[in-house]
Amino acid sequence: MSLLTSARFATTVAQLRQLPEQGLPEVAFAGRSNAGKSSALNILCNRRRLAFSSSTPGRTQALNFFALGAAESVCGYLVDMPGYGYAVAPGAVRDSWKGLAGDYLRHRQPLVALVLMLDIRRGVTELDHGLLAWTPHTIPILGLLTKADKLSRNQQRAALATTRAELSAKYPARDFEFILFSATHRVGIEEAGERIASYYDAKFLNSNLPNPIEAPLCTPTNTP
Ligand code: GDP
Repeated sequence: MSLLTSARFATTVAQLRQLPEQGLPEVAFAGRSNAGKSSALNILCNRRRLAFSSSTPGRTQALNFFALGAAESVCGYLVDMPGYGYAVAPGAVRDSWKGLAGDYLRHRQPLVALVLMLDIRRGVTELDHGLLAWTPHTIPILGLLTKADKLSRNQQRAALATTRAELSAKYPARDFEFILFSATHRVGIEEAGERIASYYDAKFLNSNLPNPIEAPLCTPTNTP
């Protein structure tokens, strides 16, 4: 069973001072509105409505934290970032998004990886490049090419190759990985779940904690 199936809602952060302080590793999920982020989170965590679609009315411009691991020993967080890029978003909403999400990505020390949702038919947009520009080069990026079911096998392979080539050329120093993904057709779910879980363990293995042995390792759990 994947670590991610232990996810449960922990807290909503509307201002950076509300961020959890334990320093546990965080993997952030980001993407354009409608890219399939909430569908991906829900299927990866095996929940029907853990994360809410950008199209849900009243959805706030906040970071939603989901705790992972056994109930008594949280070992990390999934962070659902607000979707970006609705053309209709008023200036104030865009500005608040930039403030919160930009500052979070630029300065958040416990951030160990970014999962970037890219609609396979749209590829990488200017807004995605903006997000990547905020994210420190040391943070590995897992690109999920979402809604892969909308394309044929050949088109999927071509899109994967194009996206990989484009991003590797533009950001040669970055650690990128890409997975073809479909929430509706259950493509790439196991692979993505395992990769994401591995970021939490890697943090502890590489950490400079005085006594990393005592840190709770993120291993699969049967917690519902
Ligand atoms: P979010 O705004 O990024 O959270 O995107 P959602 O998860 O709400 O998805 C946006 C739209 O795309 C919804 O209509 C979903 O039903 C649809 N969608 C999401 N994932 C998939 C997928 O894997 N395949 C297909 N065909 N549609 C999807």
